[in-house]
Order: sequence, then structure tokens, then C-alpha cells
Amino acid sequence: MKDKKHCTIVQDLLPNYIENLTEKETNTFIEEHLKECDECKKVYELLTKEIKNENKSENKKDINYMKKYNTKIRTLKTIIIIIFTIFIILTGRKLIIIEKVKNLSNPYITSDNYYVKNNTYINSTLSKHEIFNKGHVRLVKYIYPDISGHLIHYYKDNVMNAYAQVNDQKIAILNTPIDMGNWLESNRLKSKNILEDIIMAIFTNITTEECNGKQCYRISNIPEFIDMDGPFYSILYIDKDTGLFIRTVRPAGEWATLQDGEFVKRREPDTIDDYEYKFNCVTEEQIQEPNVDEYEIHT
Ligand SMILES: [Zn+2]
Repeated sequence: MKDKKHCTIVQDLLPNYIENLTEKETNTFIEEHLKECDECKKVYELLTKEIKNENKSENKKDINYMKKYNTKIRTLKTIIIIIFTIFIILTGRKLIIIEKVKNLSNPYITSDNYYVKNNTYINSTLSKHEIFNKGHVRLVKYIYPDISGHLIHYYKDNVMNAYAQVNDQKIAILNTPIDMGNWLESNRLKSKNILEDIIMAIFTNITTEECNGKQCYRISNIPEFIDMDGPFYSILYIDKDTGLFIRTVRPAGEWATLQDGEFVKRREPDTIDDYEYKFNCVTEEQIQEPNVDEYEIHT
């Protein structure tokens, strides 16, 4: 009955049998043999134990791995949420400041009586100019410390008369048509829509700093693609009270500058402009056009 040959076959097949990998007929053959053979039965029991234990520890490994993996995912999610929240808070703060300074500047922009003192530093050379605006008349005085003389631009109803004195020579160029616009308009933050403000909020840095005795928002890292309808500034200092520029910093580069009444692109060094404003103080006397009779007229 007991056939040693069968024992070898059965024991060879046992691992597959335990894992349910054997065919029905094979199963019957093995089961029949196990009923009769104690030796094979022992082997069968041992193997079953072993294989079950193996599977258990493998399951344990899988569970541990899943647990670790889930914890990692959860930590990563938390980190992403924290970073995103911080980003939203910081950008939100900047957006609020941008909207605030824009709104602050509105009442000043509508003023038609204002005085602005502008000091321009190119490298370490200082040039000054003063703007007197009263109603439809604007007088701009340029003072160049290294040249004896002056330059006055007198604007009225979108026409400009220029009066220059260099040493003893006095020259006037009259009736240049020009769009006067609002001089102050170029000295405040402006954007076409909220999207531009959001882009500005994302990319720039905003800190609080004192500049020329005024509490300012210092906006830096302004990317070049933010179109401000004017020169590109790398740093802006904006008055916390008026929303107007107190200082602008323009990096060296190719910029359009006024030359002989025309805008020409020129390579310019680093330029810093400082501004001081006064409102409702300009008198008729201050916007008096120079006496044209004293000047030699050029065309
Ligand atoms: Zn056997």
C-alpha cells in the first residue's frame, strides 16, 4: 500500500498543494495518500505551519510599509498645506497693501494745485526740478547745480514753452504741443486690473521703512514684466499717508529719456529720484510765465 515513490511525489507537490496551486485530480491523489501515510502527513503539517507563518510575517511587513507610507503622505500633505497657507497669507498681506496705497493716492491725483520737489541722483550727480501746478497751468523749473543757468518748462492747455538760460544766453522754444496729463499720475502705483495687482503681490517684496523722514512701504524685486506705463523701477518707496512715491530706484539700462523734445532710448546708469509734495499751496506768482521778450526765440 505504502509506496515510497508516492511519498517523494507527494512531498514534492505539498508546497503547491498548500498554496492551492494544484489541480483537482492531484489534490485527490495527495489527500488519499496523506490518509494512509503518517510520514507525509507530518511533513504536510510542518509545511503548512511554515508557509502560514511566512505569509503572516509578509503581511506584517506589508502592513508596516503601508503605515509608514500613509504617515509620509500625511506629513507631506500637512507641509504642503502649511506652505500654501503661509504663501496665501503673505501674498494677501501684500495685495492689501497694494490696494491700500492705490486708494490712498486717489484724492491726491485729482488735486489740480500741487507742488513737487524732485531730486534726481544719477551716479552721484544731483539735479533738481520743481513742479508748480495750478489749474491748467504747470511750470517746471530745472536746476542743474553744475551749470550756471536754468530751464523752465511752461505748460498751458497742452502746449509747452521752454525757456533756457545758459550763462548769459537766453533761449526760448515756443508752442510745442504736448499732452500735459496729470503729473502726479506717474508717481503712484497703478494697474489696469486686480490680476496685475495679484501678480505684483506674488513677485514683489514689501517691507516697512523710513525714507526721507516718511514712513514708507518699500516695494522691491519688481519684475520687469509688470507694466507700469513708465520707466521700470526696481525699488519703490511709497508714502504710507498719501500712497505717492517718495523715492524711485531705476536700475541701469536702456531707458527712454527726453532729449531735444523727443523721447530717445539711451543707456542710463542707476537713477534715484526723491520726491516731496505739497498741496493747495501754489500761487499765481509761482506759475508766472517768464517774460518772452528777454529770450531769443528758436524754432
Ligand atoms: Zn508518504
